[in-house]
Amino acid sequence: MTREGGCLCGAVRFTCEGEPLNVRICHCRNCQKAMGSPFFARALYDQRAITLKGDTGHYPSSDHLDRVFCKQCGTRLFSWRRNGTAAGVALANFDDRNAFAPTEHIWVSEKIAWVRLDDDLPQYPKGPT
Ligand SMILES: [Zn+2]
Repeated sequence: MTREGGCLCGAVRFTCEGEPLNVRICHCRNCQKAMGSPFFARALYDQRAITLKGDTGHYPSSDHLDRVFCKQCGTRLFSWRRNGTAAGVALANFDDRNAFAPTEHIWVSEKIAWVRLDDDLPQYPKGPT
């Protein structure tokens, strides 16, 4: 399966081959800040499965994770592990935004108080074990 997506202005386009490793919603404080959003819904892919076109900027939000964005329109696209293993692709940026549904909530210990989780998905206070 090949999934395509891109940023708001179209300067950055990406393709993801195969199936994601997992599809999760992260509620950690770094994701809230980096995405300017109450949480970060993403599909985690092996970096080798992702093909990227266009000019992106990178910001290290922690020792092990870069945030990747379109330099032109500022759309936040990926959380990119600096060890070269995996990358989180924002679900909202796929051309088919309903391509994936999350299966877990992680870092619920840092969840914004008014965000209500009533989807019966498993919730983890931090990352899953
Ligand atoms: Zn753009």
